[in-house]
Amino acid sequence: MEIIHLSAECYPVAKAGGLGDVVGALPKYQNKMGHYAKVVMPMYRTKFLYQHEWDVDFKGRTNLADWWFDFTVIKERNNTLGFDLFLIDINGLLDRENIYGYADDTQRFVAFQIAFVNWLNHWQHKPDVLHCHDYHVGLIPFMIRYCYDYNRLADIPTVLTIHNAQYQGWMGWDQSNLIPRWDTWKGGLLEWNKTINPLASAVKNAWKVTTVSWSYLEELRYNSNGLEALFEYERGKCVGILNGIDSDVWNPATDKFIQDNYDVENVDEGKQMNKEILCKEFNLNPQKPLIIFIGRLVGEKAADLLPDAIVSAMYTMQGNVNFLVLGSGEPHVEWQLQQLTHTFPGNYNVMIGYNEALSHLMYAGADFLLMPSRVEPCGLNQMYAMQYGTVPMVRSTGGLKDTVTDMGEWQGWGIRFNHASIGDVVHATGRAVGLFYNDPESLTKMRRHMMQIDNSWENSVQQYLNIYQSLKI
Ligand code: ADP
Repeated sequence: MEIIHLSAECYPVAKAGGLGDVVGALPKYQNKMGHYAKVVMPMYRTKFLYQHEWDVDFKGRTNLADWWFDFTVIKERNNTLGFDLFLIDINGLLDRENIYGYADDTQRFVAFQIAFVNWLNHWQHKPDVLHCHDYHVGLIPFMIRYCYDYNRLADIPTVLTIHNAQYQGWMGWDQSNLIPRWDTWKGGLLEWNKTINPLASAVKNAWKVTTVSWSYLEELRYNSNGLEALFEYERGKCVGILNGIDSDVWNPATDKFIQDNYDVENVDEGKQMNKEILCKEFNLNPQKPLIIFIGRLVGEKAADLLPDAIVSAMYTMQGNVNFLVLGSGEPHVEWQLQQLTHTFPGNYNVMIGYNEALSHLMYAGADFLLMPSRVEPCGLNQMYAMQYGTVPMVRSTGGLKDTVTDMGEWQGWGIRFNHASIGDVVHATGRAVGLFYNDPESLTKMRRHMMQIDNSWENSVQQYLNIYQSLKI
């Protein structure tokens, strides 16, 4: 089958979170299974662009409302990523360093989608499926069905995967002219709550909708930033498929970002060596349990709880614990986390920013990974942690609930708690610290057990392929 993945992110080209990881891995594994999967994404000005060789595949001209623009589709020459990668360049809109965060993000992503359908309209053949990821490409299923210039493509099956339903790409009706001439009787298929809602539109128009865990799919029906009724109504076409992890990138035995590689046999020694490097860099004591947090410092991840929870845990555990945080996000949370370095030097540190290499060393060197998330569609961090023998401490929500069991259960390996609250985080910290000091044998067993859990893509890839197959016309 020929599958086209459309996304705003794809690791290692451009990544802001889990979406990038998934789009960078899923097509590779689909190709390994004998299919022809490719990725089409915007051409940002990231390092990857300058470090690789490209061929021009197509040049076109189209319009966003009354602004006419030229676009170029380029293709990476050497199949470096294990799939064909196409970037669409639109000067003036996409030629920026960052993926998101610009005032004209709506125009940027709508123009990208228009350029894509325009290019596809020139193809001699049709692909078997268009697989759209999140709202940035959520208007495509509508465009190919109801925009007059593109409805030659209307019979191409479309799949939407929701990685995060909090962001929906809302546009006022005053921006409806950005969408190429469309059948105005079909306005209801763009709309939710009196605005154009690209995510809702994708849910309505895609042939099939997937979310990245079963529990998240359930939760969307009562907590999805306004779309609850829509998910209830469309539940018949929605399926949960857990993300996998890319073991070419996330494997402590081969990880190029860490000096001391290890595997299940020497996990305790391997982790201790990495911990010493990490602790030296951040002025922490490698003999104490190390709890890390990695992620966006936003409300969804309950990052706002971290400063007070760390203070409270530090006093409760009388300093017998270390915390290290890596992330960026809301400025007041960043500020509070930075201030704490003065309160607990030697026990706590933080790195504000995005640092892929450091994240690998942290998964390898830490004992525990804390994820108190309020919302977690799938969560990759806990799966990476498990792969590296790091015990996840997670709130029981979304994908965290589907991938982590509590150490109190038969053969359980994690620490689960129910509320995104300081009390629950401190209690979980107490359990972690107790395990570390009082029961190192169980800790080793848990590490070994987690590292052998198969969270690879193979299983999930097959589920996606089954869905595509069921849509074949
Ligand atoms: P989300 O996509 O909601 O941010 P996920 O758990 O699905 O959360 O994916 C997060 C991914 O981003 C993981 O690969 C994690 O290691 C990475 N990540 C998040 N923040 C940072 C950071 N500051 N530095 C390095 N990697 C980060």
